[in-house]
Amino acid sequence: MTETLEAPASKAVPQAEYKTRRTFAIISHPDAGKTTLTEKLLLASGAIRMAGNVRARGEQRRTRSDWMEIEQKRGISVSSSVMTFERDGLTFNLLDTPGHSDFSEDTYRTLTAVDSAIMVIDVAKGIESQTLKLFEVCRLRDIPIITFVNKVDREGRDPLELLDEISDTLALDVTPAVWPLGMGVDFKGLIDLNAGRLINTDGSQGRAVPSDVEALSGDNQLMADPHCAHSIENLQLALSALPDFDVEAYRGGHMTPVFFGSALKTVGVPELLQAIGDWAPAPRPQPAEPEPVSPDDENVSGFVFKVQANMDKNHRDRVAFLRLCSGTFRRGMKLKNVRAGREISVTSPMFFFAQDRETADEAVAGDVIGIPNHGTLSVGDTLSEAKPVKVTGIPNFAPEIIRRVRLSDAMKAKQLAKALNDLAEEGVTQVYRPVIGADYIVGVVGPLQLDVLATRVENEYGVPIGFEPIGYDTARWVASDDAKALKDFLDRNRSTMGTDRQGAPVFFANSKWALERAAKNFPEIRFLATREMG
Ligand code: GDP
Repeated sequence: MTETLEAPASKAVPQAEYKTRRTFAIISHPDAGKTTLTEKLLLASGAIRMAGNVRARGEQRRTRSDWMEIEQKRGISVSSSVMTFERDGLTFNLLDTPGHSDFSEDTYRTLTAVDSAIMVIDVAKGIESQTLKLFEVCRLRDIPIITFVNKVDREGRDPLELLDEISDTLALDVTPAVWPLGMGVDFKGLIDLNAGRLINTDGSQGRAVPSDVEALSGDNQLMADPHCAHSIENLQLALSALPDFDVEAYRGGHMTPVFFGSALKTVGVPELLQAIGDWAPAPRPQPAEPEPVSPDDENVSGFVFKVQANMDKNHRDRVAFLRLCSGTFRRGMKLKNVRAGREISVTSPMFFFAQDRETADEAVAGDVIGIPNHGTLSVGDTLSEAKPVKVTGIPNFAPEIIRRVRLSDAMKAKQLAKALNDLAEEGVTQVYRPVIGADYIVGVVGPLQLDVLATRVENEYGVPIGFEPIGYDTARWVASDDAKALKDFLDRNRSTMGTDRQGAPVFFANSKWALERAAKNFPEIRFLATREMG
C-alpha cells in the first residue's frame, strides 16, 4: 500500500519512453565549429533563447564545460558534461567531448555513453587528425555518424572532393542529405534533399524544389545563377555515383549522410537536428558481462562515464555522470555499485539542461543523470538495481608521460593524497605508488594534462606541486595466467614496479626497447596498454 502511494503507477514514466531518447556527441578537430554548432543546436531546439548565452558569464558552468580557469586561458575545452534538451516529443542528450587531443581519454569514455555522433568537418580542411582518431573510436563501437560539413559561408573545398575524402579516409559509404549552392561570397543557400526544399542564406526555409535531381536541373530560376547551376551539376554527379540513403546502413555505422551548412550563420542546423530526431538510433543494448544489457530489461542499470569534481568551488561538489542502460530509474532508488559491492541511495540525482540543473525524479535508458557523491563512485562503475551486471569497454589507457609528484610543503601530504585520489577518480590522471619509495607517481597521456593537474591540485586543494621526470616513459599493467610466474616477475622487478589506485601491478619502462626486452624475458607475462575500469 505504502509503495503505491510513493510511486503511483499512473505517474510513472513508461520504460518504453527510452525510444524517444537521442543520446549523442559531437566529434571534431579543434576549431571545426563544435562549440558554435552546440550553441546553435540548443538555439534551434528552443533550449536557449539567444545564441551566445552558452558562453555568457554565470551560465557557462551549467551549459558548457569551459568553466575551468586553465581552459579559459588556453581557449580549449578539457572536460565533458551533458546538455539535455527537448523538441517535438524527443529528448536529446548531448554529451560534450573535449576537443584537445590531450584529453582523448576522457573523450573515449564519453563515446562509450552515446548511441550516435555528429562529425563536424571544416569545409576548407576536410578530415583532420583528431577527426580521424575520434572516428576510429566510433567505429570500434559501430556508432552511427551524421557528417556536418561546416563553414560553407567561407571559401572551401569542392564538395565532391570532400565526399571522396570522407569515403576513402573513413572507408564509409557517403550520401548527400543537404547540398550547398555556391560557397563563400557566392554562397546562395542549401538544398535540403530530404524535404525537397531550398534553405536560404539566413537559414530560413525557402521554396519547395523537386527532390529529383533531373527535375532540379529544369528549375530555370536556379539554373539562371551560374553558381547554383554548377552546384546542381555537381550534385547530379554525386547522386549518380553514390548510394541512396539507407537508414539501416547508417544505423549499422556503414553509411554517413552528409549535411553542408554554416553553424555560425545557423544555416542547415535545424535540418541537422531534424535528422538526429528522425534517423539517429534510440538507446541500444550496452556491452556488458555476463551479457549485453537491453534497454527493455526492467532491472535498472547504468554506468559512470565521467566524474566531475568541484564544478562549483564554493560547494565542493562532486558529480558522477551515470548513463542509464535499462529500466526506469526513480529518485530515492537504491542501486548497487557492482565494483564496490556497496548499495547507494540515489536521493538527489540531477538532469543537466542547457541553462539549468533540475532534480531527476525519473529517467530511462539513454538518459544521463548526475549523482552527487563524496568519492563512492568512480569512472567505469556500474550501478544496478538487482542483477550483478558489469558494463564493459570503458578503458584506462597506459600513460605516455610519467612523473614523480614533488610536494614543497610536507605538511600537506594528506591533502595531496586526497587531491590525487579525487582527480584520478575523475580520470584526470592516473596515480601510482612505487613498490619501493613513498612518492606519488602520476601518469598522463598528454602534456597538457599535467598543467591541468597541477592547477587543479593547487586551486581546489590548496597544495602547490611540481613534477619531475623519473626516467620512465612507458607503463604497462602486467598480468599472467600463471600466478607463480607473475610473482616471480614482480619479485625480480621490484625497483621498476608500482601499483595503480586499485592495487593492480604496473611495470615502468624507460623505453619501448626495455619493454620489449621484458616481454621477451618473461613470456608468461602479458603487458597491457589498456585496462578495463571498475
Ligand atoms: P571548436 O573548437 O570546434 O569548438 O570551434 P568553435 O565553435 O569555437 O569555432 C572555431 C572558430 O570558427 C570560431 O572563430 C567560430 O566563430 C568559427 N566558426 C564556427 N562555425 C563557423 C561557420 O559556420 N562559418 C564561419 N565562417 N566560421 C565559423
